[in-house]
Amino acid sequence: MDRCIQLLKDLVGVDSVNPSLVLDATGEQHIARVLTTAIQGGIGLRVREQIVAPGRPNIVAELEGAAPGRSLMFCGHTDTVGVAGMAQPFSGEERDGRIYGRGSQDMKGGIAAMVDAARVIVESGGLAAGKLIIACVVDEEHASIGADALVTKWRADGAVVTEPTDLQVAVAHKGFEWVEIETEGRAAHGSRPREGRDAIRYMGRVLNGLDAIDRQLQSRPAHTLLGTASLHASLIEGGRELSSYPDRCHLQMERRTLPGEAPGSGAREVDDLLAKLRGEDPDFKAASKGMFARSPYELASDHALPQAMLRAAGSSLAPIGMSFWTDAAILGEAGIPSILFGPMGAGLHSTEEWVNIQSVLKCRDALVELARDWCR
Ligand SMILES: [Zn+2]
Repeated sequence: MDRCIQLLKDLVGVDSVNPSLVLDATGEQHIARVLTTAIQGGIGLRVREQIVAPGRPNIVAELEGAAPGRSLMFCGHTDTVGVAGMAQPFSGEERDGRIYGRGSQDMKGGIAAMVDAARVIVESGGLAAGKLIIACVVDEEHASIGADALVTKWRADGAVVTEPTDLQVAVAHKGFEWVEIETEGRAAHGSRPREGRDAIRYMGRVLNGLDAIDRQLQSRPAHTLLGTASLHASLIEGGRELSSYPDRCHLQMERRTLPGEAPGSGAREVDDLLAKLRGEDPDFKAASKGMFARSPYELASDHALPQAMLRAAGSSLAPIGMSFWTDAAILGEAGIPSILFGPMGAGLHSTEEWVNIQSVLKCRDALVELARDWCR
């Protein structure tokens, strides 16, 4: 078996569920050991552990070229989402040219490809110039504390995040904002409408307003690669019992953002909506607050890096955008031009996940080509 695929099976075989997503989950410590064995023992590159949080190490290795030159980073996340509902999440079973299991597509296939690309380069005499950095980071599926920590110590002249792109080159993705809204009513016996104020029906007005904002967002001219911005109501909670007016209702929502939208756009739209609703009814009371946000990302399609990646992959297709957020935004904000390029598969975050074996090998080969072309 190709060593790349053996590594992929080993990686899928290790539980690396993100402990910030799932209570008592294993985290990235065990997979860090497998990667250290593969990189230090298997390739002979010294591994640096960057402890990001207790039991949560980034694994970083550098391959120096024979002369100074441009640097390139391959970056992937080692954590996965949870495994609820999966029969054999860590089997790494090979069937029909695929490897099955949690994280096979998102994104242990990409990690195996980038680590094995370093092995191929080392075994064929190393890099003539420049530097290759292999970065395996924690926590992308939650708050990306791994990528945040990585860019405090490591920089490069270009980076490839090997998230699954079906072997296409992606140069853009959306960002997101999480906003919470609380409406305030007045608790009262259900038989006394003059005393009660219904916080849940106040939230109904907010939801109607969010409907209108979402329609408006989705009717704006679309971004060429990413489509339109949007929002959805994610979590809602309110009320205490059947026979009482609810004194509060709490909503958490998500707004997906596009490159070019100012940070905090979603929170401002909500603020404006609440102000309008207050103007319509002096009894209406509500407050909102931004909870967390990550920026959208975009690199020009004609930038040297995506063009070099297309050449290395032998692709004649134009660069694409991905809908989901990735660590490329953090690398990009740190001044590292970044693209996404990774294998083909399906079922990320669902109960049956797989990655196509041939596409992992093609990804590895294209990364080898790119490093030889870029690092000079
Ligand atoms: Zn991912």
